[in-house]
Amino acid sequence: LFESVELAPRDPILGLNEQYNADTRAGKVNLGVGVYYDDQGRLPLLQAVRKAEMARIEAAAARGYLPIEGIPGYNKAAQTLLFGQGSELLASGRVLTAQSLGGTGALKIGADFLKQLLPESKVVISDPSWENHRALFERAGFTVDTYPYYDAESHGLNFSGMLQSLQALPPQTIVLFHACCHNPTGVDPTFEQWQQIVEVVKAKNLVPFLDIAYQGFGDGLEEDASVVRLFAQHDLTMLISSSFSKSFSLYGERVGALTLVSSSKEESTRVLSQLKRVIRTNYSNPPTHGGTVVSTILNTPELYTLWTEELAGMRDRIRAMRTQLVQKLKDHGIQQDFDFVLKQRGMFSYSGLTAAQVDRLRDEYGVYAVSSGRICVAALNSGNLDHVAASIAKVLA
Ligand code: PMP
Repeated sequence: LFESVELAPRDPILGLNEQYNADTRAGKVNLGVGVYYDDQGRLPLLQAVRKAEMARIEAAAARGYLPIEGIPGYNKAAQTLLFGQGSELLASGRVLTAQSLGGTGALKIGADFLKQLLPESKVVISDPSWENHRALFERAGFTVDTYPYYDAESHGLNFSGMLQSLQALPPQTIVLFHACCHNPTGVDPTFEQWQQIVEVVKAKNLVPFLDIAYQGFGDGLEEDASVVRLFAQHDLTMLISSSFSKSFSLYGERVGALTLVSSSKEESTRVLSQLKRVIRTNYSNPPTHGGTVVSTILNTPELYTLWTEELAGMRDRIRAMRTQLVQKLKDHGIQQDFDFVLKQRGMFSYSGLTAAQVDRLRDEYGVYAVSSGRICVAALNSGNLDHVAASIAKVLA
C-alpha cells in the first residue's frame, strides 16, 4: 500500500529548529521561530491563563462534547474582539462564529466551505505570505496565486503593484489579507491604503478572507481590529480567521475562531448550518480546555483586564526590542539605514539580510534566521541582543 509513497520535503522552519537544537555552541540564538519569548528567553504562561486554569480545575467540570461550533461564550467574545463592544453589526445577527483548532483550523474550515460555495474561484495571497496559506488553500482544492506585496528596495509595501493586481482580478476571487502584523514581513498597509484596498474589493466584487493571528501585537487590541471593522463598515460579506495562539500564549491548545459576516440574520442561520457540516466531517467538534480558558478570561472582567495588561507587556517588549536592535546596529558601526524595522509591526521583521548572510550568521555566529531574512523580533532579549547586532554587523561589513 505505502510502497510508492515519496518522502515529503522537510518544513524549512521546523528543519531550522532541529538544526538549532543540535547546535552545541553556548551563545546560539534562534530568531527563526514564530513564537513570543519573554526577556529571559522563555515561552510565557500568562497569569490570566494560570488563574483561569486554576478555576477550571477547582470546578472539576466533566469533559463532555462541545457543540459543533464550540463554546457560545467563546464565540461571542471572539466576535467582540473583532467588532468591538456595542457593535451594530453584532446586534444585527449577521455575524456567526465557530471555535476552531487555532487560526490554521479556521482557515481550513473556511477554505473547505468556500470550495463548496465557489468551486471555480481562485485564491490570491500576498507575496510573500505565511507559508501555510498556499498549502492550506491548495489542499482544499483551490488554485493559489499571489498579489504583489513586499517591496525589497524600500523594505516596505508595493502598494501600487498590490492595488493594480487586485483591480485586475475576476469577480469572486478569494483574497487573503493579513489584517494586522503581516507574517513574514512585518509590513502593513496604512489605514488610508486599506481604505483604497477595501474600495477595490467592493467594486470588483472580491471575496475577502481576513487572517488576524496577531491582534494586540501591533498597536493595541482595538487598533489592530480597525481593518476588520473597516471592511465591515463597507457592508462586505467576508470570512475572518482569528488565532489566539500568540495573544494568549496558548500555542499548543489550538485556540482560534472562524467568523463569517453574512448579509442577513436569516442568511446566517443557513450559513452556520452548512459550516457545521464542514466541521462535523473534519473533526466533529472542538476540544474543551483551551476554549474554556480563553472564554473564561474574555468573559471575566478581572481576568480580561489582567490579560490586556499582559498582552500590552508583550507588545511593548517587542517594540522595545525593535528600537534597541536599530540602536545597537548603529553602535556596532553599521552604515545602512535600519529604521524600517521601527515601522514594521508584530513579531516579525524582514531584515533585508540575504540568504548568504543568513547562512553566515548561523554558521559563524550561531544566530539562526529564516533564509528569506525573516527574524522573530519577539525572540530578541536583553541577553542576546548585543550578540545578534554584533553578528549582523560582521556579516554586513
Ligand atoms: N495565520 C498567520 C498569519 C500565522 O502567522 C499563523 C501562525 N503562525 C496562523 C495563521 C496560524 O495560527 P495557529 O497557530 O493558531 O494555527
